Parts: sequence; structure tokens; C-alpha cells
Amino acid sequence: MGAGALKRRSVLAAGALLTGCHRFAPHFEGGWLGASVARGHRLRAPLPKAGDGPLRRADVLIVGGGVAGLACARELARRGIDFALLDLEDEAGGNARGALVAGRPCPLGAHYLPLPGRDSGEVYRLLEELGLARRELGRVIWDERQLCHSPQERLFYRGQWLEGLLPPAEDKATRIQYRQFALLVETAQRTLGFAIPTRRAKWTPSHAVLDAQTFASWLDHQGLTAPALRWYLDYCCRDDYGAPAAEVSAWAGLHYFASRHGFHPPGMETAEREAVLTWPEGNAWLTRRMAEPLRERLHLGRTVLQVNPGRQSVEVLAWNEGADTPERWSARQAVLATPLFIARKLITEKMAALEAAAQARHAPWLVANVLLHEPPLERPGLSMAWDNVRYGAESLGYVDAGHQALRPDRPPVLLTYYEALATSRRPELLGGDWRSWSLHVLAELGELHPDAPHKVSRVELMRWGHGMSIPTPGLRSSAALASLNEPQGRLMFAHSDLAGYSVFEEAYTAGINAARSIKFV
Ligand SMILES: Cc1cc2nc3c(=O)[nH]c(=O)nc-3n(C[C@H](O)[C@H](O)[C@H](O)COP(=O)(O)OP(=O)(O)OC[C@H]3O[C@@H](n4cnc5c(N)ncnc54)[C@H](O)[C@@H]3O)c2cc1C
Repeated sequence: MGAGALKRRSVLAAGALLTGCHRFAPHFEGGWLGASVARGHRLRAPLPKAGDGPLRRADVLIVGGGVAGLACARELARRGIDFALLDLEDEAGGNARGALVAGRPCPLGAHYLPLPGRDSGEVYRLLEELGLARRELGRVIWDERQLCHSPQERLFYRGQWLEGLLPPAEDKATRIQYRQFALLVETAQRTLGFAIPTRRAKWTPSHAVLDAQTFASWLDHQGLTAPALRWYLDYCCRDDYGAPAAEVSAWAGLHYFASRHGFHPPGMETAEREAVLTWPEGNAWLTRRMAEPLRERLHLGRTVLQVNPGRQSVEVLAWNEGADTPERWSARQAVLATPLFIARKLITEKMAALEAAAQARHAPWLVANVLLHEPPLERPGLSMAWDNVRYGAESLGYVDAGHQALRPDRPPVLLTYYEALATSRRPELLGGDWRSWSLHVLAELGELHPDAPHKVSRVELMRWGHGMSIPTPGLRSSAALASLNEPQGRLMFAHSDLAGYSVFEEAYTAGINAARSIKFV
């Protein structure tokens, strides 16, 4: 999204920050990015009159243009099926959109994609089509420019930067627990089976037992209580699921490791690289390329207000944000590629499965792009990596948005800060003042780089009120959720919510699955 298209207030921020024992008032510009809070909340207002404008038609109407909606659109286009896609934002991509801050690209949400495993064939094919991968003599060759450059990750631990995010095991008990957890993950991989997308793994009573308890209580039960291990596992859960180990299921906690490369503490490393694809603008690099060939069929700035499935067709009422007028659509089938709690508000018919599945909790997220007029001073240890995390912190640290630039960035420096918040803090985030949230971010960055708050010139914040579905105990086993993967009359669902948690691969295959289930008789 071009910076000009973003809705923001540009004001001078002056608030106090406590640095050491001094109060200090940094001066910087910034504001909130994105328009979705106001548009999304249109659903709470009484429905407008449909108006007597023309009735627009498409064979398939896709509501929502995040990764899932775009994947569905691509697959329909490939099959030659007529469709239209409506999204409330002015750019497609959903949680995987990007922005420009002071002319520099940066992510607003999702920012990386691990190399797809053997169960993610559709995602691999997309990456091949986008020129990121090719096969030579049976081997996959990845575009080196888009693989995360080294150093990939560093952890600020007891006053210095260490390579990787797993804290060092400083005593024998911790070392033993690292090995114990690695063996438990390896056994789970071998005996139970985990896959991404999750729809490719079988679901057994043993999975259901894991899904019925929290990851934290499962770890307690295994005697895995070493603080370094528990901090790291908690960090992983907050990073992928937006919530700590005490809130997500043990199935989710194990899935994080067992569905990818496992858990490898020092001494148990494997040759397999946990490589990721990443770009300065994050996963917007992918969504923009997915959207581009479809642009004539993407109707952006259209907030869908009602979806009414009838005997012959599905009638949809939308609000055209640009023209400020209602818009009527009619389709033979509709794919709801919005979060399930939104789909539930839109559909006029009560659906028991949707009522149940829409109860899933979503984590609010804060993403801040912080512009510093010069690089922060370094502390001892490893130099700036792509991902930079502080041991013990509640935030998830920051990503250097310039890390993948082919020419190393000259100042200014753009850092993208991530924090998953407790669901109880959603009102504070949505109603909050951008300056106080910026000071919160700067206080956290100041723990890593005490000089950073003195060098800040701009803070652009993005708030995701319902950023991602939290895989709480029982969610993944829910029959209601599973049933929404199948067509429901003229309606289909396609969103990462269907997996009970949110990553690119889940969203993408949900979209492809919905498109493939469309059959006109
Ligand atoms: C801060 C953050 C960081 C993340 N980082 C990563 C990462 O690094 N890697 C990763 O794989 N995943 C990450 N994720 C998960 C990310 O959510 C998924 O990867 C993926 O982008 C989800 O796509 P989706 O299509 O399922 O959903 P969404 O992105 O939620 O798409 C839903 C779409 O529906 C539209 N919509 C909603 N209501 C309406 C309405 N009434 N009318 C019209 N349109 C509507 C929305 O505007 C949106 O475009 C992150 C998520 C967040 C919040």
C-alpha cells in the first residue's frame, strides 16, 4: 500500500519515557495505519437501505481478500470460473499487507514464510509460479535473495546478544530438560503425525487428549519446568499463536515443533536448515503478486454487511467505501474468506456449526514501524540480525525491515516491532492513543538499545483487534470447526480460522480447498 493511501494523523508526539532515572520526552511523528477498525465496525450499525442501484452478478462471490480469499480467487481463475472478490480494505492481503514509511517498505503484519514442507504442495507450486523456487535434477533450488540472510536471529541475554533464540542451558537440569523435550517432540512426530496444513494430518484420540489440556499443564506434567525452556516455549506460542503456553493447547504447543523441523538444542542439531523466506515488506511481497493478475475482479473498499443465502442464489449487501453508497450483489455461490466471527455476523441464516466455531478467541496484535535517524548503538555480542528478541520480555522483539535489502541500508533505520496482547487489552488497543502506545514500544526498544528513543523520528502503528485465532484447548477437536471445511449449501468458508490457528500455509490451502469444492450443476 502506498503511504498516501494510508489513513493517518501526523502529529508531533510528546510524552514522557523513563530512561534510567531520567524522565525524557522524545519528539517524533506518526499515527495509526490502516482503515479497518472504522470500516469493520460498520457491521455494528443498523443496516442501510439496499438502494435501487444496479444488481451486480458473479458466479462466485468471494468475501475477503486475505491470503485465503486470494488463493481461492487464483484457483477459480485457473479453472475459468467467473468470480468477484470484495474486501473492505483498499488493498488486498488482509493480515499480510505492507506499507511505506519514509519511502521504505515494511510489513504491517505477517512477515515471513518458512520453506514449505512435503504436505504444502499448493504453497510450493505458488512459490514456483512466483519464481522463488525451481527444480533441478530433482532438487529444489530457492531464490537466495529471498531466503533470510544471516544472521537470522539473536537473543539479548544477560547483557549480550547471542545467536539463535533458545537461551543457553546454564545448568545440568536445564540441559537435561532441553534433551527431554527434544525427545518428546521427536516421539510425537514419529508416532502421532503432525502436518502443515493440519488438514493433511490424521486426527486420533491421542491428538484429542493433547488438545484437551493446555500446553503449560502438559509441560508441568512432564516435569519440564526449567525457566529458560519455559520462557522459550512461551515465546514460540506467543509468536505463532498470539497467546502464551498457559492458553494454547498441548496439541498446538507440540504442533509448532513437530509439524516443522522439531526442537534441536545444542548437541542435537540436524543438517536441515530452518530457512524462511522474507522480504522488506513482509508477506505483502506474496499477496501483491497474488492479487496483481486478478485486479479487474478485485472490488476493494467494499465492506460486506450482509450475506443472504437463498434457494436460487446468494444475495450480498456491501458498502462501497469510496462512493459512500450501498452495493447489491448476486451470486450462485459465495465463499466467506473472513474470520469466522465476522462470517457469523454477515450470514442471515443461523448455522449451528458457525455459531459454535465463531466462539474461538482471537489475539489482538500491535505492530509498530519505528524509524530511527541513525542506527542504534550495538551492545556486546552478535550484530543486528533479522529477528531480535529480549530474553524475559513480553514483546516479541523487532525485525530489521532493511535486513533483506540488497544494498545495506544507509540511515535512517526502520525496525518493525511486534507484540501479541492479552485479549483483555483489546479495548485499550482499539480505543488507545497512538502516542501512549508509541511510548510503550520505545520503552521496550530502550531495554535493548538505550539510545533508540533518542534517535526516533517516526512511529507508525498498526493494530489488529482480532489478529489471529488462538488454538485454545478443545478448538482443534471441535466437530463444528471441521464441518465448516465442507460446503454448506451455497456457502463455503475459507480462512485460516478453519485450522484453529493462523499461518500462511493454512490460509492458502483453505482458499484452494474452497475453490476446488465449487461445482456448478
Ligand atoms: C501481526 C501478525 C503477524 C503475523 N505474522 C505471520 C507471519 O510472519 N507468517 C505467517 O505465516 N503468518 C503470520 N500471521 C498470520 C496471518 O494471519 C496469516 O498468515 C494469513 O495472512 C491469514 O490470512 P487469511 O486470509 O486467513 O485471513 P485475513 O488476513 O484475516 O483476511 C481476511 C480478509 O477479510 C477482509 N474482511 C473482513 N471483514 C470483511 C467484510 N465485512 N467485508 C469485506 N471484507 C472483509 C479483511 O479485510 C481481510 O482482508 C500474522 C498475523 C498477524 C496478525
